[in-house]
Amino acid sequence: MKKATDCVDAIRMLIVDDDDVDRERVIRCLRRFPGVIDLTEAASLAEASAALQTNRFDTIIIDGRLGDGEGLDVLQFIANENGVVCPVILVTGFSSERDAVHAMRNGVYDYIPKHELDASRLVPVVLNGLRWATSQTALFEAERELRRRSLYDSLTDMPNRNLFFDRLEQACGNTQRYQVPFAVMMMDLDRFKEVNDTLGHAAGDQVLLQVGKRLLAACRHSDTISRLAGDEFAAICLGINTPEAAMMVAKKVLLALKPPIIVEGRALSVGISIGIALCPKHDTQPGALMAVADKAMYQAKSGLKKIVCAGLTGEAKPAYLPPQALLSELEHAIEQREFVMYYQPKINLETHQILGAEALMRWRHPSGVIVEPDHFIPVIETSNLLGKFTLMSIELVLEQVAEWRGRGLELHVALNISAKMLEDPHLARHLQQRLEKFAIPPELLTLEITETAIILNPEAARKVAEEITAIGVQLSIDDFGAGFTSFTYLREFSIPEIKIDKNFIMELKRDSFGASLVKCVSAFCESEGIRLVAEGVEQRESWALLCELGCQIGQGYSIAKPASAFDFEAWLAESKARRYEEV
Ligand code: C2E
Ligand code: CA
Ligand code: CA
Repeated sequence: MKKATDCVDAIRMLIVDDDDVDRERVIRCLRRFPGVIDLTEAASLAEASAALQTNRFDTIIIDGRLGDGEGLDVLQFIANENGVVCPVILVTGFSSERDAVHAMRNGVYDYIPKHELDASRLVPVVLNGLRWATSQTALFEAERELRRRSLYDSLTDMPNRNLFFDRLEQACGNTQRYQVPFAVMMMDLDRFKEVNDTLGHAAGDQVLLQVGKRLLAACRHSDTISRLAGDEFAAICLGINTPEAAMMVAKKVLLALKPPIIVEGRALSVGISIGIALCPKHDTQPGALMAVADKAMYQAKSGLKKIVCAGLTGEAKPAYLPPQALLSELEHAIEQREFVMYYQPKINLETHQILGAEALMRWRHPSGVIVEPDHFIPVIETSNLLGKFTLMSIELVLEQVAEWRGRGLELHVALNISAKMLEDPHLARHLQQRLEKFAIPPELLTLEITETAIILNPEAARKVAEEITAIGVQLSIDDFGAGFTSFTYLREFSIPEIKIDKNFIMELKRDSFGASLVKCVSAFCESEGIRLVAEGVEQRESWALLCELGCQIGQGYSIAKPASAFDFEAWLAESKARRYEEV
């Protein structure tokens, strides 16, 4: 027998016998063992237990009867951690069938009567024991993996739908019995399909992995965060009993997802819509609670707010009408021109000079409500009304610009164009016709398009972009950073203006991610000759910071809110008067 204490492949063996002579006999038999043995000896159950506490053994050979206990008792000291099995071989002075059965039933791998002990008997038993242990460990691993797969998501390793519903049932049970309240959050990524479609599934998987990690980091240990399917996540947050507390958790989640996810060298910004239901407030049954949270999430998806807690929202807006009813209402609204443009100024944050305005659509609903665009544009975009709607929006803006010009007010106006319109080969022609009709110099108009438009269909987008630029109308990349940004793409498109997404700007702080984003984008824009605009400038204090970071142009509530043409003109006159006073 070779002894090796450091050898990795050595079989770690523990021999326990209170009789030195018997122990020697076992060791002698093992000389015929075809491998290296790392041997530990113990003369009592106490010594064996001490050795087992600090060491891990591959096999144990133990005397049936020791001075301080039974050989069998050793089993209680063996921790079968992680499925690692340690075969125990009992060497006993008794040889009755009954003893053998008893020992094996209690977990002993095999036993050898003392009088039969020799190398030819012991060595095969040890070898078989080791093989058995290996196969047992493999089985355990397979089983564990199967269980994991049935309960955990293979990509993110987060609890899957099965485990989530199991925990949800438990949580509901606890609420009914012990009044432990909790919140269920349904979360769905915004525009995830676009990541998959444009960058491929591998990139999509990377995004999901990163999102999973951030969700886990944003919630408590005791919460269950699960990936239910695709880009759908859900959480059970224990101990939450008010909508306000739930909103706070949801806001933390939104915040955690704000910094872009870097995949294949691209900075992807992933939005998330969150719907919340509370137990017991909204329901105490798993299915019903999920339905409430689901409905809230769909409201978040189709509305302005990224987080909707059930019961907190007001009356349903027209956007929550069944889509078909809303569509026919919208069709009618386009025919009747129930739409107006609001205008929001863009200024130089240093000099306070007014550089132009962005036109933002409003629907004057016959009920008297002014409906914001997020409630109807997504519906129009997925319908065949988009072409008509876009032409109407172009006409509304150009009509206004013409009217202003007629009164000597020359103003630059930016108009939002849905990404999908870049697939329309007639867009540039229609635009030119309208510009001629209203006799507007094309340089007074900018079209704002989101960056996803470019990434989704670069070839078509490039062609239309070139045609639009050729007629003298400028393009601007809107919501920069909110989509799937690639600086390379922007370089290729030679776009004159970028508007950095308001989510990075609204609560701008010096040491925030938003600030570092503005800084690096402004450096990029400077080197490429691109104009950079910050939108969503809500705080007056951000003006100086933005200038310092390299972004001189701003738009946002701290300057002026979007207003009707009439109110906007009043603001213009007032701010001009104020500037003259300042001089
Ligand atoms: P957008 O192009 O990103 O427009 C900016 C949005 O931010 C506007 O919302 C504006 O009211 C809002 N905003 C401006 N300053 C601030 C601020 O300081 N803080 C915050 N929190 N928000 C600010 P609005 O008017 O509701 O428009 C929403 C979106 O609807 C627009 O986002 C644009 O994508 C779309 N949209 C608006 N008008 C049209 C249109 O005529 N055609 C198309 N296709 N889309 C439009
Ligand atoms: Ca815009
Ligand atoms: Ca924007």
